[in-house]
Order: sequence, then structure tokens, then C-alpha cells
Amino acid sequence: MTAAEICVVGVGYVGLIQAVGLASFGQRVECVDLDPRKVEMLKRGVPPIFEEGLEEALADVIDRDLISFTTNIADARSADLFFVAVGTPTSDRTGNARLDYLDAAISSIAEIAKDGAVIAVKSTVPIGTCARFQARLDRDHPEKSLHIVSNPEFLREGTALNDFFNPERIVIGGANEVARDRVRASYAGFEDRGVPMILSDTSTSETIKYAANAFLATKVTFINEISDLVETVGGDIDQVARGIGLDSRIGPQFLKAGPGYGGSCFPKDTLALATIGRRHGVQQQIVETVIRINDSRRFRILKRIEAAMGDKISGKRLAVLGLAFKANTDDVRDSPAVDIVHALLEEGAEVRSYDPVAKFSVDHRCYSQHESIAAACEGASAVLVATEWPVFKSFDFAAIENLVERRYIFDMRRIIDLGAAWATHWDIERIGSPMQK
Ligand code: NAD
Repeated sequence: MTAAEICVVGVGYVGLIQAVGLASFGQRVECVDLDPRKVEMLKRGVPPIFEEGLEEALADVIDRDLISFTTNIADARSADLFFVAVGTPTSDRTGNARLDYLDAAISSIAEIAKDGAVIAVKSTVPIGTCARFQARLDRDHPEKSLHIVSNPEFLREGTALNDFFNPERIVIGGANEVARDRVRASYAGFEDRGVPMILSDTSTSETIKYAANAFLATKVTFINEISDLVETVGGDIDQVARGIGLDSRIGPQFLKAGPGYGGSCFPKDTLALATIGRRHGVQQQIVETVIRINDSRRFRILKRIEAAMGDKISGKRLAVLGLAFKANTDDVRDSPAVDIVHALLEEGAEVRSYDPVAKFSVDHRCYSQHESIAAACEGASAVLVATEWPVFKSFDFAAIENLVERRYIFDMRRIIDLGAAWATHWDIERIGSPMQK
């Protein structure tokens, strides 16, 4: 096997896609992760995450000898380009993004990297982080010249591979042009295809990432507020969304009423942006309001479920369909579905869940996860659809009508076929539609 020129540090949702994607272009990639379990699985060709097409793409680059996995960063000594994709979760204390994983990753790279190596930060980091790490490298490693470049990631879980191969833009921020060009060269195929390339300083690049996520979170929150209005004044929220989304200045995406945004990015990135704004005395009032509205949404949903249960959730058995924060992923980080499970348990309900892929466990005697929709719905007083998995769209009401205690569905994703529900005499309520009296 020839020595790798590219190393990816942190092979989670972002790093693994980046590594497999670059390798599939014929570039040799060494992947480093601290988690020995992940590395062992990957060596055997088993992706530790669920992502459409990933297993096949991984098998292909393993067969072509273009990718390898290790826990030892020293194995990547030959690389001249390091992509860092470690987590930057919220610090509970400050709301800021935690940088300890990034700090550890960059320090370990700096120890082994050769002179002139480039470190491209794919992790989402507070504005100013890359400049600060650059200053530290210059101070602590005067013996070699190492360059930090910001290269934020925009993939979406669930369509991550497709997003890698069809990016809408690539953002590369850095003070050193040669370093920026090294990162740019790794994406040469995209540039040839006309994918817009934004070359900037590191602050601009870091800001683009936070601003993009904050804007999308705002869009989701906006339609959710309109949906609350429609619940009261009447109308059809899907038609409202379509009616505004057809305006090309607005666009149709992220206008689906639901339980509020979740996942590993929007909640933490909006919070980090708000914290950055406050720290710099430039309060991000829109983003702060979005966070507040989104947080209160779970409570509003709980109240609606409570009202449908005759104001008594305690002691009731409820089925929650879907645990992942959205369809086509196994990621349950900051998932609205999981928040709702917790809230229902706190209210004294018994919760039985089902998700086609995601796993979630909580040490609570009233919680259980099941292997099928039918098993989760057994004896349920209400079926709550919390994730928009396609399999729930074709929900077979007849198959479970005799299993449930009451034929009632609360559809937080507006995906259930109303006609089929009514035909089989189910009560159905949906976010964005008025409550039944
Ligand atoms: P993740 O938790 O899935 O993966 C991070 C990986 O880094 C883990 O496997 C962990 O073991 C490894 N790691 C931590 N410290 C390490 C170290 N010092 N050396 C080697 N490996 C180390 O995280 P993720 O979801 O891939 O997110 C990574 C970053 O990308 C975050 O900053 C996130 O905000 C950003 N991002 C994520 C997404 C997404 O959809 N998940 C999209 C865009 C940007």
C-alpha cells in the first residue's frame, strides 16, 4: 500500500464520508479515530453509522486499497493534508462549542506532521478558532511551518454521500494561499464541474457555516410558528408552505411544519452563534428568539398530546414511532423524538418505541424499544409519529387496529395518509391542523 497523502482525523458522520469520498476519487486516505471499536469495525468494512450507500462505497475503496484505519496518528506521518472532523458539542456551562477534541486532535497532528503540512478544519468551530490555533502552532512548533485552513462541512445526514459528491459550494478559508490551494486541489474534480468555490479568510469561512445553519433553523422555526397560527385560525399549512416556497426568493426547502429542529448541528450551532454574538457585544436577536421558540415547541406538543388524552398522560401507554432526529439516519443526538420520550416518561406515561434504524435506550422501567410498529403499538392509547420515516407513510392501520387500546394517532410530521386513517376509523391529529373538539 502506498503512503497516504491525506489523513482524516475523526471518522464520525462527517469524517467518514469525507474519507470515503476523497478515496473514491483515487486519493489514498489514512483515517485516524480515538475509538478503537469504530476503527475495528471500519477495518472490517462495517460502517459504524447508518448512511445510504456508505457500506458499498466503503467496500469499494477498501478493495482498491485506497483507505486504511488506525487509532495511531503516527501512521499518518506521510500525509501533507489533514482534515479534522472531530466533534464540537455544546459546552453545558457556556453554550459555546467545546473545543477540547479539536485541541487534542490538532496537538497530536502537530507532533507528527511534516514541515509544510496543512490542517483543514471541517468541524464547526466558533469564529476566530482557526486563527487562534494557527497562532498557537506558530508559537509551539517554530521548527516547522504548519498551516490551518477552515473548510466547513455542509452535508446532511441521510443524504451525506450524495451531498459529498454533489456539493452546492465549497468554502475554504485561510491566510496562506499555498495552504488553501492544497485543500482546493483535493476538490479539483468539483471545481472542474463548476461547483462554486469560495476562497476567504478563516473568520469568513467559520461565519458562513454558523450563518447557514442559523438561517435554516430560522426557516424551520418560521414555518412552525405559521403552523401554530393555522392550527388556530384554520387552513392547510402544507399549502401555505407550498404557496410561499414557490417564490424563488424563498425556496421550498425547510418549510415543513413539525416538532422543531433537532440533530447534532442546528441546536448546538444556533446556541454557539448566540453565545459568540453576546461575547462580542453584538447580540444575535433573531437567532436567540429562534432558539427560544424551538425549545418551547416540545412543551407545546406535550400539551397537545395531554389534551388529546383527556389531560392525563400518567399511567397511559403511548407508542412513539421514530427516534432519529430525521428520516434516513440513525442519529438521535438532540432528537425531538427523544425529547418527547423523556417528557412523556416524566409525566408518568409508559412509552414503547420503534425506529427502523436508530437505537435509543434510557434506564427507565416504563420505557422499551421494539422491533416492529405492531409490537410498539400493542396496548397503546395513542400512537405518536415523531420521525418522517417513509415506512410510516404507508402505515397499515388495519394491521394494528385490534392491537391498540385506542385508535388515535398524533402525527408530528404530517406524513400519515389521512384517507387511509379515516377509512379505518382512526382519529388522527396533526401538527399544523386544528385540534379535534
Ligand atoms: P461524530 O461525533 O460523529 O464524530 C467525531 C469523531 O471524532 C468520533 O468518531 C470521535 O471518536 C473522533 N475523535 C474525537 N477526538 C478525536 C481525536 N483527538 N483524534 C481522533 N479522533 C477523534 O461527529 P460528526 O457528527 O461527524 O461532527 C463532526 C464535526 O462536523 C462537528 O463539529 C459538527 O458540528 C460538524 N458537522 C457535522 C455535520 C453532521 O451532519 N453530523 C454536518 C456538518 C458539520
